[in-house]
Amino acid sequence: MLNTGVKNELIQIVGTGRYLDRPEELACYSYDAFVEEALPDAVIFPETTAEVSEILKTASRYKTPVTGRGAGTSVCGAPIPVRHGIVLCFSKMDKIIEVNTRDRYVIVQPGVINADIQKALLPFGFFYPPDPGSMNSSTIGGNIAQNAGGPRCLKYGVTVDYVLGLEVVLASGDIIRFGSRNIKDVTGYKLSSLFCGSEGTLGIITEAILKVLPKPEAVKTLMVTFNNLDNTAKAVTDIIGSGILPAAMELMDKLTLNAIEDTANLGLDRNAEGTLLIEIDGVKEACDKEMEKIIEKVRKNGAVYIQEAGSEIEREKLWTARRSAYGVFAKLAPDIISEDVTVPVSKVPEMTRRIIEITNRYGLRVGVLAHAGDGNMHPMVPADKSNKEEWQRVEKAFAEIFKAAADLGGTLSGEHGIGLAKSAYLPLVMNQATIDFMKKIKQAVDPVGILNPGKFV
Ligand SMILES: Cc1cc2nc3c(=O)[nH]c(=O)nc-3n(C[C@H](O)[C@H](O)[C@H](O)COP(=O)(O)OP(=O)(O)OC[C@H]3O[C@@H](n4cnc5c(N)ncnc54)[C@H](O)[C@@H]3O)c2cc1C
Repeated sequence: MLNTGVKNELIQIVGTGRYLDRPEELACYSYDAFVEEALPDAVIFPETTAEVSEILKTASRYKTPVTGRGAGTSVCGAPIPVRHGIVLCFSKMDKIIEVNTRDRYVIVQPGVINADIQKALLPFGFFYPPDPGSMNSSTIGGNIAQNAGGPRCLKYGVTVDYVLGLEVVLASGDIIRFGSRNIKDVTGYKLSSLFCGSEGTLGIITEAILKVLPKPEAVKTLMVTFNNLDNTAKAVTDIIGSGILPAAMELMDKLTLNAIEDTANLGLDRNAEGTLLIEIDGVKEACDKEMEKIIEKVRKNGAVYIQEAGSEIEREKLWTARRSAYGVFAKLAPDIISEDVTVPVSKVPEMTRRIIEITNRYGLRVGVLAHAGDGNMHPMVPADKSNKEEWQRVEKAFAEIFKAAADLGGTLSGEHGIGLAKSAYLPLVMNQATIDFMKKIKQAVDPVGILNPGKFV
């Protein structure tokens, strides 16, 4: 419970209608798509940057923790208010302020849902490349704070590559603005890189200027199945190694594919040990040529079935199937851990083998799902957290998976972030001086430590 002094001041800023503190209301903001939970003391729905600034000034004065929240789709526990305090939920700051395709940017509030930007750009023939699987619900504030990626990021890069400018409220309540509407801007430190992936620990994002791109002239989508998972992974390295850069290259193993088919009934090949969903885009003639080369490579690696989407409806069906993977997998057990490690693409076959060997050794089921073209692997383990013995096996298996990724020259996260899930493993990929450097930045920007405390810094 917040003390009466803080509560009264906060209600003065937003009114009673946008301040929640009944236990049944707080419970809705106590979790994300990871497995931990913690209740906030209050949830507030700001409508303006000025309100966010006033809220943070009050929170700083009373040393009350503040955790930003978009849609709560994080899979690493990032928006869970482990030290309680205030959750700032951005569902009422959800306006697209400007669409300017002539100068190639959009300006949005943090609560705008990713897919709504895509819809707003469609009539202009433009798109916003970062496309997390959660794009129909996750918000731009959350995408920036997590530096979200997605299938298309193989060719187009992740969120940080599209943030031209930000408005951020600091813990002190000060409002800073950096970057601009210009595609080229090297004025001063590139502060957008600092805030992308900061998971709400350095400041609260209240507005973003995002770069957008013209839609490519042609898109071709291919589904390829293999009767051997190792060959599936080898096909990925072969294609990338030959200099072709598809827009997306998604790998699914048999367990994942069958979980999708159980729900979506798309007529996918249930016997396939490995499936690749490959998309290329660009100028039509170039796409045709690249597609020929890709087909040659997958055939060489033992593809048993190759199907090209014949229409936009067919293409959308394949992508809907891929995007539903996490949701359908979640039906297999009370809990699901969807992890996120990245390895150099040449190590995808080795990392796939290691994930399977480790999880088998711990007696766990695993679904291997990957944005494979950029080495971003998502091993998914269905389990039951209330079964302590099983849960210990899950934790040990993932500790080994993180270590295996680091040993192969990989890293702890390609897009999901660190949050609560992986802060203990940072030393696998960063030396102590680097971790201390991040702590110094946090200390300088948020000296009282009110912003999303208890997370990776
Ligand atoms: C089915 C499914 C598929 C997914 N697929 C992908 C994928 O392909 N790629 C990918 O990268 N991720 C994926 N994710 C993970 C998740 O969707 C992303 O991390 C997303 O960016 C989180 O956005 P959100 O709005 O839900 O943020 P939340 O989960 O609410 O918050 C995430 C973090 O952002 C902070 N935050 C939120 N708003 C602000 C703000 N305005 N200012 C400062 N900090 C803020 C929070 O404090 C928290 O630390 C997936 C998740 C699910 C459930």
